[in-house]
Amino acid sequence: MKESAATHLKTSRIIKHTTDNNDFEIWEQPGTGHKALHSLSRFAPGDRLDNFGARLKLQQPSYLSVQISADDHILLKPEYLQYMNHSCQPNALLDTREMEVRAITAIRPGDEITFFYPSTEWSMAQAFSCHCRSRHCLKYIQGAAYLSADILEYYYLADHIEEMLRERSLGDLFEEEPA
Ligand SMILES: [Zn+2]
Repeated sequence: MKESAATHLKTSRIIKHTTDNNDFEIWEQPGTGHKALHSLSRFAPGDRLDNFGARLKLQQPSYLSVQISADDHILLKPEYLQYMNHSCQPNALLDTREMEVRAITAIRPGDEITFFYPSTEWSMAQAFSCHCRSRHCLKYIQGAAYLSADILEYYYLADHIEEMLRERSLGDLFEEEPA
């Protein structure tokens, strides 16, 4: 969990990660040090890229953590997955029930792998300005808590985020009740 996907002028490939079936690389942009996870394999929508688990469990979100329930945050294992940047038009998702990363759209060799951070994060430790260049870029990313249901309905959301949204809308109903 770092920042948004950016256009890469010139990249040097630094770390290769091979799973049973697939190859990935972390590319670093010279100068900025901006890192991004790219696929060297091909995926169709719905394909599993990898499974993930917890390298470390945290009670509070951190710069690198992924939220997997209302109260639990983890550092991803395998570690290469933490180089997935955010995009407002993502090509992958983190399913926190099945604990797997899946393709949303077709992913071709060389493509950067991105996911929508508010799909797992309710309120992020570190908000950031997004420069993902998608047509519907939300510009400022700080978690699902800060986005309207109208925007979120366009996205796949993890179970706990769906649940927290339901609780939020119920809370709004009660607040609107006359005293
Ligand atoms: Zn964006």
